[in-house]
Amino acid sequence: MGKITGFKEYERKSHGYHPVKERVGHHHEFMVPLAEDDLKLQGARCMDCGVPFCHNGCPLGNFIPDWNDLVYHGRWQEAIRRLHATNNFPEVTGRICPAPCESSCVLNIHNTPVTIKQIECAIVDRAFDSGWIAPEAPTRRTGKKVAVIGSGPAGMAAAQQLNRAGHTVTLFERDDRIGGLMMYGIPDFKLEKRVVQRRVEQLAAEGVQLSPNTHVGVDISAAQLRDEFDAVCICVGSTVPRDLRVPGRELSGVHFAMEFLVPQNRRNWGDRLDPAHDLLATGKRVVILGGGDTGSDCLGTSIRHGAKHITQIELLPEPPDQRPSDNPWPQWPRVMRESTSHEEGGERMFATLTKSFEGKGGKLTALNAVRVQWQPDASGRPQMSEIPGSAFSIPCDMVLLAMGYLHPETAGFVKDLGCDLDERGNLKAGADYQTSVPGVFAAGDARRGQSLVVWAIAEGRQAARQIDRYLMGETHLP
Ligand SMILES: Cc1cc2nc3c(=O)[nH]c(=O)nc-3n(C[C@H](O)[C@H](O)[C@H](O)COP(=O)(O)OP(=O)(O)OC[C@H]3O[C@@H](n4cnc5c(N)ncnc54)[C@H](O)[C@@H]3O)c2cc1C
Ligand code: SF4
Repeated sequence: MGKITGFKEYERKSHGYHPVKERVGHHHEFMVPLAEDDLKLQGARCMDCGVPFCHNGCPLGNFIPDWNDLVYHGRWQEAIRRLHATNNFPEVTGRICPAPCESSCVLNIHNTPVTIKQIECAIVDRAFDSGWIAPEAPTRRTGKKVAVIGSGPAGMAAAQQLNRAGHTVTLFERDDRIGGLMMYGIPDFKLEKRVVQRRVEQLAAEGVQLSPNTHVGVDISAAQLRDEFDAVCICVGSTVPRDLRVPGRELSGVHFAMEFLVPQNRRNWGDRLDPAHDLLATGKRVVILGGGDTGSDCLGTSIRHGAKHITQIELLPEPPDQRPSDNPWPQWPRVMRESTSHEEGGERMFATLTKSFEGKGGKLTALNAVRVQWQPDASGRPQMSEIPGSAFSIPCDMVLLAMGYLHPETAGFVKDLGCDLDERGNLKAGADYQTSVPGVFAAGDARRGQSLVVWAIAEGRQAARQIDRYLMGETHLP
């Protein structure tokens, strides 16, 4: 423990952001990190609790009190070793994790948790800047071959762990770049792609065989996979978006969020875009359906494009500012959240149901909606009903559907392999991450449904451990 009385002496201090006016003029990250002295004092606030609830809050089980203490004492190189012991890509979680660890920090009982996420990010950024992070190629090869399909955080983590255990790993990706949603989906202003690319290069230097532009099920069949590899790990994400089948859905101007976000990632790389897919919100009246991460990313991107007006609509009611009594610490607080994109502009509407889209000459001109109320039924489950006489229209030129993802695409090689699905359409795999087909494993959003990067890394690591045990009869992977 850094300083026994640290939590009483020092206030929580967070990093800053560049001013809104400045940052909306570009697509780069805009966080202003804390100075080293401030970070040390923030590390000193950790109480090293007998029962560290933060461990439990973090899906990776990060050794948070250990590295808080090491940062307080200025032992940064040891801190990165401790951080890497549980997390392959802390520079990603340190930027975009919603930090459930901080929600469960004991100091959060008074709403002043340790700034865990910022300390995590500072440790790894410093380690990269200082040249402390180098490829870790295995010293011996086992002769076993593993195919990892899908190169998001789950696939990258699984590939890195399996390769370090000495297996020969091929990481297949249907897109032209490795990284999954970290590369194509999440905007650069939250996570610059150089940060992801740096790890891709590390994987290659460690000996992982990267195979972008390879659509498994199209370019390589399920039968080939079984013939050529001793084990398969399916990390294809949850990529089937929830649609809104209301009148007018076919109008030009109604798009899935990814049709809008991915081209912006490509534009930032300097890729040449097919004009048919070069979607911009510039000068448009935009409505975003969905209040989660994807919706918020559409908002930030639309603002940067110079949209005329933006409305973000959420079906659920506005959450409270404070924790309700049935949602106590250390649970994840179900409270109103404001992302950095919300600080930048746009209007938010809650408890609103879209009924139809209107258009002229095949082009979207308006969205028709109605207000709803949510009340518990006899069993206590909230039920939605429309408020009579509350119908209204919003004139708009672009609607972005950001209402979540249903399940992975399973019609191709997953079906050919014969893997069972669960009741939600995700790959069915138990605590050993093995699907119904021996030797075929699954991890990340494809297994658990749409989730978070931190969970994808955790699942990729755990699946790797189980695959290593399957191949070798025992495992030394963490
Ligand atoms: C817009 C957006 C913003 C988000 N923001 C955040 C955030 O701020 N914080 C956070 O923690 N989480 C966020 N998430 C969620 C997070 O990105 C996902 O939970 C995470 O990326 C899941 O990782 P994964 O490895 O399971 O799958 P993915 O990242 O989805 O990767 C799956 C990969 O598999 C590839 N693939 C699919 N089928 C095949 C095939 N047949 N052959 C070869 N390759 C295939 C896909 O092309 C893709 O690259 C966000 C999600 C979205 C959509
Ligand atoms: S990965 Fe997320 S939950 Fe875990 S320590 Fe980092 S910010 Fe907290």
